[in-house]
Amino acid sequence: MNEHQPLDLRSPWVVSIHDLVRRPGEMKEFHQEIPAPADLGTEMIGVPDESPIVVDLRLESVSEGVLATGTVSAQLVGQCSRCLTAVREERDFDLQELYYYPGRDAEEDALFVVDEHIDLDPPMRDAIVLELPFTPLCRPDCLGLCPECGFNLNDDPEHSHGEQTDPRWASLQGFQAEG
Ligand SMILES: [Zn+2]
Ligand SMILES: [Zn+2]
Repeated sequence: MNEHQPLDLRSPWVVSIHDLVRRPGEMKEFHQEIPAPADLGTEMIGVPDESPIVVDLRLESVSEGVLATGTVSAQLVGQCSRCLTAVREERDFDLQELYYYPGRDAEEDALFVVDEHIDLDPPMRDAIVLELPFTPLCRPDCLGLCPECGFNLNDDPEHSHGEQTDPRWASLQGFQAEG
């Protein structure tokens, strides 16, 4: 991100750090619920647009800039990759980001303090999206769907199509039919 690029002050993710600027050693806690931006997640699982994300950070003034450390908690909604039922869970994600003062030597993808503000959106996205499961599961031992008929095997682990071909069952069925 370009260090001279202005931040969008209308974004709820852009926060003022006025009282921390150029005061190494100063620190403040930041707790806020901020609505999730659109398109946060993958096709399989993600954070619903506008759902509240609880941001719990410590903002510290250091010599290079401002260090943000803490967690973001978000509601995840998606689909089990085995049985396709809805998956919902609340999860915490670790976040750590150093915002440099303009003019400081920083990596190419570093973020900057711009006009006494920092944008929490990019590190929040990284913290969440990079940790999302590639194959979400409704539970760790989800049994998935019957490959023959699509029946959800979690509803009846005994589900089977083996009756007609299993000779023991075939004879029993014949007996029942006669009776
Ligand atoms: Zn499942
Ligand atoms: Zn089946």
